Amino acid sequence: MRCPYCERSGSRRELHAHLTDDHAEKVITDTTWGRRFMELQCPECDEGHRTEVKPRYNDPTFLEEHYREIRLVAFDMFLYHWQDQHDQETNDE
Ligand SMILES: [Zn+2]
Ligand SMILES: [Zn+2]
Repeated sequence: MRCPYCERSGSRRELHAHLTDDHAEKVITDTTWGRRFMELQCPECDEGHRTEVKPRYNDPTFLEEHYREIRLVAFDMFLYHWQDQHDQETNDE
């Protein structure tokens, strides 16, 4: 698979880690009406993935600490889309 944001490519697992650490800013979190959401827009089509962050993440300090965990979840969802909708090969698993 290749990274949708840069030239890097690798296995799904490698890309998952790469996206989480190197493209962290692609995951946007916002709070609407007291509910917190994270959003990740596919760079190649109009599909966006917007998910409510679990209520236990609502504590601001908790969110800060677990922001990486939230990104892991967001990019995991995105990689399914990336594989299925944009014909990316999986080199492993
Ligand atoms: Zn990249
Ligand atoms: Zn897409």
